Amino acid sequence: PLLSVPEMLQQTVRTYGNHEAISFYGKTFTYNELAKMVYAFTSSLQQSNVQKGDRVAIMLPNCPQYVVSYYGALSAGAIVTQINPMLVERELEYILNDSGAETIIVFNAFYPLVKAVQLKTNLKNIITVSLEPSEAAQVEDYTFESFLGKQNGQVLPIEIKPEDDIAVLQYTGGTTGRSKGAMLSHRNIVANAYQSGEFFKNEIQAGKEKCLTVIPLFHVFGMSSCMNLTILFGNSMIMLPRFDLEEVLQTIKREQPTIFPGVPTMYVAITNHPKAEDYHIDSIRICNSGSAPMPVELLNEFERKTGAKILEGYGLSEASPVTHCNPAFANRKPGTVGLGLPNTAYKIVDVATGTIEVPVGELGEIIINGPQVMKGYWNMPEETAVTLREGWLFTGDIARMDEDGYVSIVDRKKDLIIASGYNIYPRDIEEILYEHPCVQEAVVIGVPDQYRGETVKAFIVLKSEKTVTTGEMIDYCRAHLASYKVPTQIEFRNELPKTNVGKILRRALREEVLNSGS
Ligand code: ATP
Repeated sequence: PLLSVPEMLQQTVRTYGNHEAISFYGKTFTYNELAKMVYAFTSSLQQSNVQKGDRVAIMLPNCPQYVVSYYGALSAGAIVTQINPMLVERELEYILNDSGAETIIVFNAFYPLVKAVQLKTNLKNIITVSLEPSEAAQVEDYTFESFLGKQNGQVLPIEIKPEDDIAVLQYTGGTTGRSKGAMLSHRNIVANAYQSGEFFKNEIQAGKEKCLTVIPLFHVFGMSSCMNLTILFGNSMIMLPRFDLEEVLQTIKREQPTIFPGVPTMYVAITNHPKAEDYHIDSIRICNSGSAPMPVELLNEFERKTGAKILEGYGLSEASPVTHCNPAFANRKPGTVGLGLPNTAYKIVDVATGTIEVPVGELGEIIINGPQVMKGYWNMPEETAVTLREGWLFTGDIARMDEDGYVSIVDRKKDLIIASGYNIYPRDIEEILYEHPCVQEAVVIGVPDQYRGETVKAFIVLKSEKTVTTGEMIDYCRAHLASYKVPTQIEFRNELPKTNVGKILRRALREEVLNSGS
């Protein structure tokens, strides 16, 4: 249906008004209560002269105020710009200027950072959120509570055209250059919630599920799988502001969530907890894994240990984000990201031309067409023209499709390693490393090499109390991989750099290697 994002919430409020919408550190909010706060926030924004199309930035960890700010801003017709709180000053300044946001809702801890860049941006309204109500109010700006005091009990009607109007500017990680703002329309976002809902209609019960909401909502995966899908179904978000293993496990034990969208590194952390069995993790029926590859060995180990089941999916910011997922358990294929969501067309095309479809089983770039595909990049017509061609989204991901239409994501085009002219996909090597009984986490990158152009370097975190030498690890790889794929360099680490959403940051490792000159 052609709804705006706020209309999707209103629809749920009509049916599930008295159901729990959010649970956060023991505090709960029903859908009626949430709707009231959203209304008040919208009214306050309008009282501050926020108009349709204005950008409103949100820089918060998961908390109820996130949902209120997001839906409140969208109801005012504003465009939400989600900002990763881990950004440094330069990155924050860039996104604020690129989006032109005049209003920001920011977590207290990041307030000094916002103040440091304010004069170099258009920011006028700064609204701070603190989790402890007793924390002192900021002097010249608003607290969330003082801002709500501006409302006059009325909301001016705003006409939103779901097809045309942008709801969210989702900035990409910027691995390949400047961070780009993917323009997601109301229709893109609502369509993606409905597509996922339809795909899981036999799995997810309306008004009865609890979704463990620990992946960040500012990331497009959290926004869709935890927030919007939960709201579409009138279910409840069990929110945590960060991934703290002990806290996550305690929350699972106490709240017994039934759905847990997560990233592989979270499932790894749970699997490696010495007493994972004690936390009744099997209350969770569906763990939707996405954002990064889920090695099959890890999936098996997690399921053996916890009794919960993983369904791996795939998506990207430019597709609001979900395009593929494994169907329910009888039909899933571990190691693949499953089938396209309803109304999602996909093809694997020859990387060089981008036009010729490759045969079943062969590698190419996966391209997507569907109602969830973005309108383009904000202020970047050339980048848009490269990424959106004749209605197809070029993902930059290398994939293959099997005879049943299941897709395996092999790697990103830009992560490909070319050593002595051979194409090496890091994922092939990582899958083998994860099968080693002592390996907890592993990642492989290409590093410059005088003779081969590039060579393979592996970074490995061993399980606690395990020791393996470099030589043993190389011998193990030789036994399982073609010789040109065997890492020539291995570095053991205590941990790997990760993004806020828990993706292993290959870029940071590459930069380290380049800076060290090795
Ligand atoms: P950037 O593209 O700038 O690095 P990002 O990583 O934050 O930013 P996202 O839109 O969050 O971009 O991530 C999308 C990418 O994540 C996909 O293009 C794909 O490479 C990867 N990805 C998502 N799900 C999976 C999966 N199940 N298996 C492998 N890769 C995945």
